Amino acid sequence: MSSAQALRRITILGATGSIGASTLDVIARHPQRFAVAALCANRQWQPLLEQIARFRPAYTALLDAQAAGELAAAVRREGLPTSVLCGPQGLCEVATLPEVDTVVAAIVGAAGLAPTLAAARAGKTILLANKETLVLSGSVFIAAVSAGGATLLPIDSEHNAIFQCLPPGYAGSPEERGVRRILLTASGGPFRVTPLSALARATPEEACAHPRWRMGRKISVDSATMMNKGLEVIEAHWLFGARREQIDVVIHPESIVHSLVEYVDGSVLAQLGNPDMRTPIAQALAWPSRVAAGVSPLELAQIGALHFAAPDPARFPCLGLACAALDAGGSAPATLNAANEVAVAAFLDRGIGFLDIAAVCAEALARLPARPVSSLDDALEADRAGRAVARELLGRQAVSA
Ligand code: NAD
Ligand code: MG
Repeated sequence: MSSAQALRRITILGATGSIGASTLDVIARHPQRFAVAALCANRQWQPLLEQIARFRPAYTALLDAQAAGELAAAVRREGLPTSVLCGPQGLCEVATLPEVDTVVAAIVGAAGLAPTLAAARAGKTILLANKETLVLSGSVFIAAVSAGGATLLPIDSEHNAIFQCLPPGYAGSPEERGVRRILLTASGGPFRVTPLSALARATPEEACAHPRWRMGRKISVDSATMMNKGLEVIEAHWLFGARREQIDVVIHPESIVHSLVEYVDGSVLAQLGNPDMRTPIAQALAWPSRVAAGVSPLELAQIGALHFAAPDPARFPCLGLACAALDAGGSAPATLNAANEVAVAAFLDRGIGFLDIAAVCAEALARLPARPVSSLDDALEADRAGRAVARELLGRQAVSA
């Protein structure tokens, strides 16, 4: 058996989420290729128990200790062969198990950083969905991947598309391989053509009703503000060693072209497919070979036309904020990410309006000058400071409302 076809033992961080479910769907199609070693989540133990009963991993971990206690009792009751761990330490432990070769990083938000970094240091193959890890600590994380001998494979659909369009063995130097530009596509989200005057009253339900992708609530709101694309510009910078001016964003409402790479000779390579996260997940799980993902074939004749447009900066100020944070460097992207997480949670709780998300992010960036980030502690400190400022801004807003 070649190493490409050896059984891959997999830990899924964020198993109960949207990416976690799509990953398990692909894994279940290929029991001879992929085995689940550990499944982790935040505190929702019942859906995790169902997954454990189906995939029978040796380990599971929940962040929340009380929920982990309830899960452990249920696992014993059902006679399942699974050890239950808990807390940040438990997540890091299952991300670094010696028998595990592949870790799917699919926790949402900054909470994904510590276990994903632990997996990098332990030399695992990391399938990265948690873009916040790179936004928060790009330089630290990339250094850990290289020091730990880890392999980093993007499963964010745009970055997976770029990975597929880059030459084999690409090592992070666009010029050396004739790459002129990376083009990230963006659907434009649910508010692409909504009258600007109506955006102030947009509800969480409207913001989460993405026209093309079914995703978790946080990334759905990020897609509506296009902060998601901004975070993806930062993600592309770290993954592919591209400078900001080498990365462009184009709106493509059909979400069929998942991203493109332009070469100096004028060739532009694109990856196309139906919008289904099982494609990038299967590509990365099986890489460098290919496996079926259960995704329906792309019928171009039925789709008929594909459209492209430049993003409107007045409609999507968060995209500009993210590019400015990347230019500022250091702690600025972490500040932005932290303020965004706090603001999006407040919006989902109906504490602030849709347009306040960008306002809070802009103000947090203005108040916290960029500082160098050279360790996990620096990144976590920038995250803490960004959250504190955002909460202060939200408190003031609640008072003035
Ligand atoms: P989701 O909200 O559906 O799921 C999040 C998962 O993380 C859940 O399993 C939850 O239990 C777990 N989790 C949340 N907070 C945690 C914590 N503090 N500690 C441990 N576990 C925690 O989110 P999602 O849509 O699957 O997105 C996950 C990540 O993948 C995000 O970083 C997102 O940006 C990225 N991503 C998602 C998609 C998509 O299609 N959903 C596409 C590209 C990238
Ligand atoms: Mg994406």
